[in-house]
Amino acid sequence: MKFKNFPMVPRVVFGAGSFNQLGEILLPKRKNSDSSVIYLVDAIFETQELSKQIPVIFNDQIIYVSTEEEPKTDQVDALVTLIKTSFSELPTAIVGIGGGSILDLAKAVAIMVTNNGKAQDYQGWDLVKKTAIYHVGIPTLSGTGAEVSRTAVLSGPEKKLGINSDFTPFDQVILDPDLTINVAKDQWFYTGMDCYIHCIESLNGTYLNAFSQSYGEKALELCKEVFLEDIDPASSRDKLMMASWHGGMSIAYSQVGVAHAISYGLSHVLGIKHGIGNCLVFQYLEEFYPEGVALFFKMMEKHNIVLPKEICKNISAEQMKTMINVALAMTPLWENALGQNWQDTITESKLRSIYKKI
Ligand code: NAD
Ligand code: ZN
Repeated sequence: MKFKNFPMVPRVVFGAGSFNQLGEILLPKRKNSDSSVIYLVDAIFETQELSKQIPVIFNDQIIYVSTEEEPKTDQVDALVTLIKTSFSELPTAIVGIGGGSILDLAKAVAIMVTNNGKAQDYQGWDLVKKTAIYHVGIPTLSGTGAEVSRTAVLSGPEKKLGINSDFTPFDQVILDPDLTINVAKDQWFYTGMDCYIHCIESLNGTYLNAFSQSYGEKALELCKEVFLEDIDPASSRDKLMMASWHGGMSIAYSQVGVAHAISYGLSHVLGIKHGIGNCLVFQYLEEFYPEGVALFFKMMEKHNIVLPKEICKNISAEQMKTMINVALAMTPLWENALGQNWQDTITESKLRSIYKKI
């Protein structure tokens, strides 16, 4: 058996207001006054107070990016071209400020600035050859675990797959729970449930080990406090941010499961976003995760969340086939969820029956 030698984020700051330390953190990385830091920032912040607090000096540039759609390989390529044509030297740093979409985009851009070819060439495992440039992740939404993970998930022309590599994790993360203050309630719930589902899938998987379990149990405990108890908003933000981190650490050394496999199909064919897609699927998975699904319904009820219905009602036979194929291709996820003989349970007709309910 070969054990994973997993890279971790080497530096992290945590605390409400810690975003203010960004300038001071970047300063020693700057070699001279030609230095440039590229800030990739979710476009929703363009008109908000946060944009004024970004410590822009020298040749720094803020690029606002819409997250209406999840990040794409050609979007990464376009950003890399823009950066290379705007500056004669490589930037000092790439800083991503946003939810999972922006964090993944920042990781991918930092890699592609130093590696030749197109982002789509690197979708897969350990295909990256050269170290990325120094990159910093600053989440503004808690749940995906993208701030800690070894992958940058991108939709490409052929597939939605991450750039999984030792060069992908951030060199520095700033966890400032205050940045999540203005997240809309539904979005807070959907992305928070991504974390909850990471925990359920990791803790109930066959790949589970003490490393994953220790992080997964802590993340689950925090999710229960946040979504089932009445705690004050500031501590709820703190706890969800740490739940996301621990949930990400848990799946790093295990794997996700049934909800993620089926949700990838939804996202590929219908463009459904990751968080809500997982919720849409998870509600129908009591057969696989009975306790987890029961708690999920309690959380939905407590926060008056109503999920959209009949998402797959009018899809074509061809779209259904593609969704099923995308889900079936997620072998490690199925193996983690159900063991080596997962194909005995997961058939085309089984998946069709689940998609039809959504
Ligand atoms: P997101 O980044 O797509 O953002 C969702 C919405 O929330 C957007 O409209 C955004 O503008 C808004 N938003 C973000 N921060 C906000 C704030 N502070 N206030 C108000 N609105 C805010 O959502 P997400 O769920 O964080 O990320 C989903 C993405 O993460 C997907 O692309 C998925 O593939 C990826 N993902 C990556 C990993 C990983 O390990 N790399 C893991 C899970 C998911
Ligand atoms: Zn997820």
